[in-house]
Amino acid sequence: MFDADLARRIRLVGLDVDGVLTDNGIYVGMVHGEPAELKRFDIQDGIGIVLLKLAGIRVVMLSGRRSEATAIRGEELAVDACLQVHHARKVPAFTELLERFGVAWDEAAFLGDDLPDVPVLRRVGLPVAVANATPDAQRLARHVTRAAGGRGAVREFVEDLLRARGEWGTTVQAYLGEREQVPA
Ligand SMILES: [Mg+2]
Repeated sequence: MFDADLARRIRLVGLDVDGVLTDNGIYVGMVHGEPAELKRFDIQDGIGIVLLKLAGIRVVMLSGRRSEATAIRGEELAVDACLQVHHARKVPAFTELLERFGVAWDEAAFLGDDLPDVPVLRRVGLPVAVANATPDAQRLARHVTRAAGGRGAVREFVEDLLRARGEWGTTVQAYLGEREQVPA
């Protein structure tokens, strides 16, 4: 569980993609004669992202490589931003995102799993590593999830964060309320 003051300070959550929103695997091959790359995302993580947004927290995806699969998933989840940067240079991209949304580094959380995330994890107020993260990423993290990337790590983080803020129950009620309305 997170410190309540720290959890309440968070206004933006950044998510690495490969190894955090996925199990780190990519499926590479040919589809209809064209090179194609497929990834497996976790649906419960997706609901977690919806809950974060309902709680008024911005969500951004930040990947160190380009993939159409990532863009499609980011669009489906309607995240506040989905950036895919060359050569995994994440600090300039994340700095720009924070400026765009008027959020300070200590008001941001970031979930990462590997070396490209380390420079961002060093700067954010709440650095989080997933269970399958490399030792370098885990050492920097203030919290390590029990679940692995692509296997519910994001959903677990969301629930822990919202519980620490005292917002889990109200957010779930808001989610359910939107879905319990019966057309007149
Ligand atoms: Mg990664």
